[in-house]
Amino acid sequence: MTSEPKHIAVIGGGIVGACSALALARAGQRVTLLEPGEPGGMQAASYGNGAFLSPASIIPMSMPGLWRKVPGYLLDPNGPLTIRWRHLARLTPWLLRFIQSGHSLGKVRRTASVLRELVGDSPLRHAALAASCGHPERIRRDGLIYAYPDRAAFEADGLAWRLRRENGVSWRELCASELHEMEPALDASYAFAAFVEAGGHCTDPGAYVAEIVTQAKREGVAVMRAEARDFAFADRRLKAVLTDTGTIACDAAVIAAGIHSRVLAKRAGDRVPLESERGYHVELSSPAIVLRRPVMPSDGRMANVMTTGGLRASGQVELASTDAGPDWRRADILCEHLLRTYPGLAGGKADVRISRWYGHRPSTPDGLPVISRSSASDDVVHAFGHGHIGLSAGPITAELVTSLITGKAPPFDPTPFAAARFR
Ligand SMILES: Cc1cc2nc3c(=O)[nH]c(=O)nc-3n(C[C@H](O)[C@H](O)[C@H](O)COP(=O)(O)OP(=O)(O)OC[C@H]3O[C@@H](n4cnc5c(N)ncnc54)[C@H](O)[C@@H]3O)c2cc1C
Repeated sequence: MTSEPKHIAVIGGGIVGACSALALARAGQRVTLLEPGEPGGMQAASYGNGAFLSPASIIPMSMPGLWRKVPGYLLDPNGPLTIRWRHLARLTPWLLRFIQSGHSLGKVRRTASVLRELVGDSPLRHAALAASCGHPERIRRDGLIYAYPDRAAFEADGLAWRLRRENGVSWRELCASELHEMEPALDASYAFAAFVEAGGHCTDPGAYVAEIVTQAKREGVAVMRAEARDFAFADRRLKAVLTDTGTIACDAAVIAAGIHSRVLAKRAGDRVPLESERGYHVELSSPAIVLRRPVMPSDGRMANVMTTGGLRASGQVELASTDAGPDWRRADILCEHLLRTYPGLAGGKADVRISRWYGHRPSTPDGLPVISRSSASDDVVHAFGHGHIGLSAGPITAELVTSLITGKAPPFDPTPFAAARFR
């Protein structure tokens, strides 16, 4: 016997909301997607990210010994991780939990094994999703290069690579000649690499989200330009989502509003410590060099990838309040690093244009997203907090969301993602 379809409001048109709306429609539900901007538009983290789909992205930011580095992060304006002094007091509770979550190897090991469930087969899942939306070209599975100056630098990252090995991530070591044959544009100072052959990337993350939403519309999803503000409950059952343009009666809702999910989660009974780890990108249109594969140079901690817009370098972690303005010096750091990493860029074409962007990684202190029913009602499902891996984890998150709403067995145990862990 099949049950009546529910009407589900999916809040947010980034990668998580787009994938969830489409998956729920494919599971036979009636879906309305609420998004105040363009799905996958510049306001979303899903627009400007590094485009990496990496099975190796299982290492949390918080690792043993991090606390010793915090003063350096406060003092070094050019490092890959900074904290704005003025926001330090407000961010301290989150920072303490962040440091605590990585203080022992056991904790980091557990986080890595949980993240592996989310990103392990992400390139394959995305390839299938993009093909089902009529855009197979959007996802490429050519592998990812993690480049180091030498083997010693790679070994200094040994804990991260050991954890990857323990979790079934495989890679091929490349010596200098193999590396430069594979990626001739790379500066000669990089003489060693780990090549993650199962890795993939997206050729245009913003366009991809818009294409998923277009496909979702074809499959019956209604898209409304609206900002969700609150929920109406009666006896712990959801009755409606209240928006800036009116009330939407529905049986269930999914909170997938990226960094803005914290306020909505609170309305649904859960205080989640969600902060922005903001990041930046620069994109060079018609650059003088072309990368054959995406590269992550270890010293810059940035993702370099060819997109339909040109050569993109994205990275930097800046802890500051969500409403604080951007610090474009961080984009300049990425640009300078690009020029050092690929010397061929220096004699660039005259018509090269550089665009800059910044966005908010929606980050929990323990490095895991929140994918669970809410405390106020089983009808409201959280799907946010994906930090550094949200693009990769979009499709599997949608599968977990669908199982929480339809009662279908989940692909794996979602307990580690419960909002209740922060109570
Ligand atoms: C510089 C940078 C590099 C990154 N690189 C990678 C990478 O290489 N690989 C990877 O996997 N991940 C990467 N990430 C992380 C990834 O981009 C995010 O985790 C992911 O995009 C989060 O998706 P989301 O759908 O949760 O949120 P978002 O993409 O931010 O979307 C949220 C949407 O909700 C909407 N919204 C907000 N409030 C409301 C409301 N009240 N009602 C309705 N809608 C609302 C917003 O307008 C927005 O469109 C990177 C992030 C950054 C910033």
